Amino acid sequence: MQTRTESLQHTMMRVPLTLPHFLERAAKLYPKVEIVSRLPDRSLHRYTYADFYRRARRLAEALQRAGLRPGERVATLMWNHFAHLEAYFGIPCAGGVLHTLNLRLHPSDIAYIARHAQDRFLITDDVLLPLIEQLRSQVSFERIFVVPLAGAPVPAGYESYEHLLDTATGSWDYPPLDEEAPVGMCYTSGTTGRPKGVVYSHRSLVIHTLAAALPDALGLSQRDVVCPVVPMFHVNAWGIPFAATLLGCKQVFPGPHLDPPSLLELFESEGVTLTAGVPTIWLGVLEALRREPDRWKLKLRTLVVGGSAAPEAMIRAYDQLGFHVLHAWGMTEMSPLGTVSRLKSTLVDLPEDQQYAYRAKQGLPAPLVEVRAVSDHGEVPWDGKTMGELQVRGVWVAASYYGGEDPDRWTSDGWFRTGDVVTIDPEGYVKIVDRTKDLIKSGGEWISSVDVENALMGHPAVKEAAVVAVPHPKWGERPLAVVVLREGQQATAEELREFLAPRFARWWLPDAFVFVSEIPKTSAGKFQKAKLREQFRDWSWG
Ligand code: ADP
Repeated sequence: MQTRTESLQHTMMRVPLTLPHFLERAAKLYPKVEIVSRLPDRSLHRYTYADFYRRARRLAEALQRAGLRPGERVATLMWNHFAHLEAYFGIPCAGGVLHTLNLRLHPSDIAYIARHAQDRFLITDDVLLPLIEQLRSQVSFERIFVVPLAGAPVPAGYESYEHLLDTATGSWDYPPLDEEAPVGMCYTSGTTGRPKGVVYSHRSLVIHTLAAALPDALGLSQRDVVCPVVPMFHVNAWGIPFAATLLGCKQVFPGPHLDPPSLLELFESEGVTLTAGVPTIWLGVLEALRREPDRWKLKLRTLVVGGSAAPEAMIRAYDQLGFHVLHAWGMTEMSPLGTVSRLKSTLVDLPEDQQYAYRAKQGLPAPLVEVRAVSDHGEVPWDGKTMGELQVRGVWVAASYYGGEDPDRWTSDGWFRTGDVVTIDPEGYVKIVDRTKDLIKSGGEWISSVDVENALMGHPAVKEAAVVAVPHPKWGERPLAVVVLREGQQATAEELREFLAPRFARWWLPDAFVFVSEIPKTSAGKFQKAKLREQFRDWSWG
């Protein structure tokens, strides 16, 4: 018997929070549930969790036999499909680190990132070999394994992923894994300077997965059919493949076919209930649904939208079609889940317009995430008006970058500076006003480019709009709107100005509207405002 003064020890088991549990659980409880992938030739590859389990474990064993040591990086350069899911689990379960490379980056940037991370092996799709050829001379992977998606023989100088799996015996056990061991690595997409690496741990990933699945976060259930359109090379497809595997959901992967009709056809044929991606994807899908409203019979329930702000008009339009847009905010440095916008029980009776205003905000911090907004004068009040930089803290938030780069992104009291400017309202909803460098400073006052462009995207003729700061001799900077009109639609600058006028102070209205056929986008589908600022730097205000 302990005395009352002896320090009390808890009596709970210390089981490490590691990834193998996900695989084991899925295979034991849901062996018959399907994983479906669209291949480059548009055919569907179909297998079950039982098959996936066998192959992911074979990959882990084969990597160990190939000499992979704990903590070594294995890069992937792949579309979303079953083999990428195998890599998501096989690499970390071997004690290695999954490093997803972004195939939309310039080859020299991909090479830079692979060199920086010191990737040892690479797993890639056969259809991406032309890209590999462009970067191969700039980075030395020890071995490159090619997934034969299109079925052609693997060319000389490369090895077959299937042959790699064949080197496994199948009688193999996981190496001991510490929950603090690294599990995966992602680089920021570089809209703010050189890409920087974030290294996730087994523990941070497991806890992030649990929180992401919660009803007030993504709200995932085993009965969901989940299709991440967000690439698996973009912050772990927002954690969806991990959550779906832990819960045993049917998983559907679009492969390289991301055009709206292909996506809608896949959602229909596989009964997808939850999908996720950036607003540009969903604006395109919305156009397709409006053009042919009766073409697809969908079971879709939720579209998770993040990466950039979801325009309120888009949330409303999807509601009318019976699909719920769930607006979420996150970052590579946050695994990525930060906030999710769902209405609290105390707000559901508000008038419709107010409800939409909340849903268009980025939302409430997820459990275990702390937020604060800080200005030059210290922490700002939660009044929904005062702007400050969003700072965050939590178990799945990075505490540093790989290699200790850019240490100034962390405050001396241990919070991560997001670089996003926000207001937080009395209910706790965070609203991203802008990225620090995208704010427009006119006559010494800030204008939110995001607010103005989102309002513009509510105009029926507007497909996409980006608002950027352009130097101005009198005001320092003034807003200029770059607009893409919907097919077959017309609108003049005057009409758009009038449309915005009732919603904003006069000085917030763009002084110029430029009509273009396309807005340049980053590899993650976000507007490349830096490029637009550059393009219109010498704009003559007349
Ligand atoms: P990068 O910082 O290199 O663009 P990330 O993919 O990590 O890479 O992007 C994180 C950033 O994306 C956030 O800091 C924020 O500016 C933006 N973002 C993400 N989700 C949203 C959202 N729902 N609304 C507005 N901005 C968002």
